Amino acid sequence: MKIIKSKRSEIFDIELNKDLLARNRRLAKENRKRFDHSNILAIDIMGSIGSGKTSLIKSILKRLGLGKKVAVIAGDLTTTIDAERIEKEGARVIQVNTGKECHLDANLIRQAIERMKLGGVKVLFVENVGNLICPGEFPLGAHKRVVVISVTEGAYTLIKHPYIFREADVIVLNKIDLAKAMKVNSFQLEKDAKKINPNVPFIKTNALSGMGVSKIINVLGLRT
Ligand code: MG
Ligand code: ZN
Repeated sequence: MKIIKSKRSEIFDIELNKDLLARNRRLAKENRKRFDHSNILAIDIMGSIGSGKTSLIKSILKRLGLGKKVAVIAGDLTTTIDAERIEKEGARVIQVNTGKECHLDANLIRQAIERMKLGGVKVLFVENVGNLICPGEFPLGAHKRVVVISVTEGAYTLIKHPYIFREADVIVLNKIDLAKAMKVNSFQLEKDAKKINPNVPFIKTNALSGMGVSKIINVLGLRT
């Protein structure tokens, strides 16, 4: 089979611009300082469209029961669907619409935290734009990065997208109740995860029923 491997320099993509990535990293460090200064634990939730990021955040919020001590920045291209779903759990929510941009960056997060009232907030979740590729390249300043995948994405999610999983502090395999129907071997996915990121916690969940969610809360140190 003939394989064409593209070199980075050959791809016309502003996201691969080195200056841009360096600038993003600088802003991410500033965001982190701000979080630390205010004693806020910030968590970036990444994953594909439909993997269950919003449902997982909702399920975590329900268990934490911290109300307005939790803030959520919901990233999405144009809609406010997820922000409205999360708001029902009592958290402070701000929507960031990125238009055509397929990831959040540290500058967007900086703007969001400047506009949000973060007084009294202990935990900040960021729901990244649904995408398994570039969000990994754009740290936001969060203390922990979680990647959510679901068995409905098939058996090869990890090996096809190794880069983002290297950035992960926690990998969540969601919709575990559907594994059999999807003919997906969750143990193989776990093995793939450990190959890419050997020490990463790999947590199986059903965000809708709440199964596995308390494990995520423990691993992220959210019990206060
Ligand atoms: Mg969502
Ligand atoms: Zn992107």
